[in-house]
Amino acid sequence: MNISENCYQWLMNMHDFSAEEALWNKLSGEEQAQFEALRKQHSARLAQIKKMEEDNQYFLSAFNAIPLPVAIKDANAKFLLVNEEYKKVVRMNQTDYQGLDVTHLAYFSDEDREVFYENCKYAIDQSAIVQQEFSLGLDDEQRNYGYWLSGFETESRKKGLVSIYYDATFFQSILNRLNKKVVDLEQEQQNIIKNSALDPLTGAYNRNVLAGFLEEAFKEASEKGRDFCLLMLDIDYFKAVNDTFGHLVGDQVLQLLVMLLQKTLRDKDYVVRFGGEEFIIILHNTVLENAYRIADRIRHTVETNMVTPNHKPITVSIGLVSYREGEGVKELLQRVDENLYRAKTAGRNMVVPQM
Ligand code: GH3
Ligand code: MG
Ligand code: MG
Repeated sequence: MNISENCYQWLMNMHDFSAEEALWNKLSGEEQAQFEALRKQHSARLAQIKKMEEDNQYFLSAFNAIPLPVAIKDANAKFLLVNEEYKKVVRMNQTDYQGLDVTHLAYFSDEDREVFYENCKYAIDQSAIVQQEFSLGLDDEQRNYGYWLSGFETESRKKGLVSIYYDATFFQSILNRLNKKVVDLEQEQQNIIKNSALDPLTGAYNRNVLAGFLEEAFKEASEKGRDFCLLMLDIDYFKAVNDTFGHLVGDQVLQLLVMLLQKTLRDKDYVVRFGGEEFIIILHNTVLENAYRIADRIRHTVETNMVTPNHKPITVSIGLVSYREGEGVKELLQRVDENLYRAKTAGRNMVVPQM
């Protein structure tokens, strides 16, 4: 008796218990043992199939949970499987996409479709990854999309492809937002730096940044051999302006003076408010002779443009020095201060250059 055959018969007639019993009784002990072994083998196989089905379900659920449109294609770039997101994005109603290829994809322009097809073939052949952007045309809108094509090969040498689409507009908008944030932050940073460097009343640089400016000028002088000069300017009899017309007028005089200085000077000639009504000006790349001319022009401009409310001219005294190689901030400031003092004692409204 052929056990396998009978066994199969038995399995087919599982519902027929009397037939089973009759058959069973006909078997010898050895045959019954063989039968029992086959039955075990069969149920193990069934359990294996059940497990594979469960795994398959699990894989499919995971595949459908991917929040990007994903398609799996065969070695000829024909659809095998697409996930739910794919169907949603390309508005695919039909479930029977299997066996279709890229030539059926209406949402590509002719040009993009051709490129896509070539890319698919390349990715499959080379088991390579290709990334490209394209314009996804749906009924009512055109969107910038991109795709990754990733070719693969199984252990049994079957080739295939996974294609993933991504919304480039979405990434672009995130990128734009980030870029804007960076620009805003840079602007804010610039403002903070600038504001901390500026005197709030006049908008001139404040004393905190003077040392930095001078270091920069020293460096330029020693590295490039450029002369620079320093002016120290002080308003004459300013206390009297305050006393006579009040502090607010005094403040306006200070503001006006700085505006006038900034207008008279080049952009790189920094005006620094050194103290109450005392200012320091760095004249980059300037020899003493020219610096004197600039200083006297300032003095003259103030005298002729600024007046007190009762029409008396406002004047300034100016000390002037040119940088001497090797000297430090302290010595330089001391020399210019001495010259300012000389201008004051010699009668004010004048420029005193270094001896
Ligand atoms: P000199 O010609 O010798 O320089 O005489 P001066 O009166 O200008 O000199 P002094 O140093 O005696 O007076 C400076 C005045 O500047 C005193 C102070 O009240 C005034 N001052 C300093 N800072 C400010 C400010 O921010 N606003 C106003 N309105 N006045 C200020
Ligand atoms: Mg003064
Ligand atoms: Mg003073």
